[in-house]
Amino acid sequence: VIVNMTPYDAPPPQEAPPRGAPLIDGFGRTVSYLRVSVTDRCDLRCVYCMAEHMTFLPKAEVLTLEELDRLASTFVALGTRKLRITGGEPLVRKGVMGLIESLSRHLRSGALDELTLTTNGTRLSEFAGDLARFGVRRINVSMDTLKPDLFRKLTRGGDLSKVIAGIDAALAAGIAVKINAVALKDDNAAELPDLIAWAHARGCDATLIEAMPLGEIEIDRTDQFLSLKDVRLDLESFWTLTDIDHATGGPARYVRVAETGGRLGFITPLSHNFCETCNRVRLTCTGTLHTCLGREDASDLRAVIRGGADDAGLIDAIRLAVDAKPQGHDFHIVRHAAPAVARHMSTTGV
Ligand code: SAM
Ligand code: SF4
Repeated sequence: VIVNMTPYDAPPPQEAPPRGAPLIDGFGRTVSYLRVSVTDRCDLRCVYCMAEHMTFLPKAEVLTLEELDRLASTFVALGTRKLRITGGEPLVRKGVMGLIESLSRHLRSGALDELTLTTNGTRLSEFAGDLARFGVRRINVSMDTLKPDLFRKLTRGGDLSKVIAGIDAALAAGIAVKINAVALKDDNAAELPDLIAWAHARGCDATLIEAMPLGEIEIDRTDQFLSLKDVRLDLESFWTLTDIDHATGGPARYVRVAETGGRLGFITPLSHNFCETCNRVRLTCTGTLHTCLGREDASDLRAVIRGGADDAGLIDAIRLAVDAKPQGHDFHIVRHAAPAVARHMSTTGV
């Protein structure tokens, strides 16, 4: 007797959309990487990401799991090879494991190279085993400090021990973990070497992210901004960093740290533009497609699917949006009193 052991409510199997020619934008870049935000909600309130009192979207505005599956699967049919699930916090979305289980069919069929997620790690202990079972091979976990008190302050109430337990559970399940930390001048600058060494000692890559001017939050971003050029110079005063050619399809530039043996990435959207090689687009949890993180361009794919479009209609809408992908963006922290882009990172999904 075959018993279905899965505890998750996967969306009902859907017909695969027709395979189409790959998505190529107006500047000849092939779009092969989709980030999907599955919720705007989160169990943390990181100071650089969210306001303390956020108003979250009404449920009706957020795509259902079936709609998320349909949109993501259509991108896969159009040549998306890498799918990253994000948020908000993806693991707080009810039913998200059903969605991941369902999307894992594209790994089995060979249409997708990678199904991955970016998470704050608070619920990873619970889900790590199943993520591994569904073919997730590596994940990004955001963690800006190893100090429980500072973690509580930066996340407005988060429990660091849960995140560390989650990271350990993922590693034990055979999932590679990359630790992402936002570099913040006053809060974690001095601690970054410890954080990097901690990650490398566990066999994890580490990536530092420059704070980006996205979303209205209370604190002045120019106060927190720390250039990764300066961080790198500081690290080079006691470590040997060697540039390496490690491409993950993302905007990070990687170095090897001789002393720890580990890999370190720098994501510097402000001091370095990575637009020429950008292969990615982002879908928000409301079905808005952003083809550039730093620009306000947007296409409402929810309106397309809720308007009853068939697969061909949806594919046309996606092609139209990708064709208009901007050539690049221009963040300049000093010039903007207001954020360059008003939407929060938690809605866009990075
Ligand atoms: N909740 C998940 C997490 O924290 O990993 C996924 C979504 S979160 C928006 C994705 C990443 O964006 C995190 O690594 C977070 O640190 C980063 N982030 C959020 N706001 C940012 C900002 N203003 N500048 C730079 N990175 C930011
Ligand atoms: Fe939540 Fe991630 Fe934003 Fe922090 S960075 S508030 S964990 S969505």
